[in-house]
Amino acid sequence: MPATDQPQLLPAGIGVIEGWPADVLCPGCGREAVYYLDYDATCCLACNRWIAFHCPDPGCDHCRLRPPRPVAGSGQQHEHRRRAGGHR
Ligand SMILES: [Zn+2]
Ligand SMILES: [Zn+2]
Repeated sequence: MPATDQPQLLPAGIGVIEGWPADVLCPGCGREAVYYLDYDATCCLACNRWIAFHCPDPGCDHCRLRPPRPVAGSGQQHEHRRRAGGHR
């Protein structure tokens, strides 16, 4: 049985996404891009950007619900940093 048909859980931001390593490199950073199963698109998790969309119909649900960036909320971690006051 082909293992490539099984989606993997790839670490993305503060969570994971379902997909698998794509056969292309990110034009921005040169790392291996990943296929994001939920949105039928290839993206780079390091740059947090889309690289290629595979759906031929831009009006379908997958494309309509696709967020502007692959990993939403990954930049919110800084807001939870504790202030370094009162430490002895
Ligand atoms: Zn990249
Ligand atoms: Zn689509």
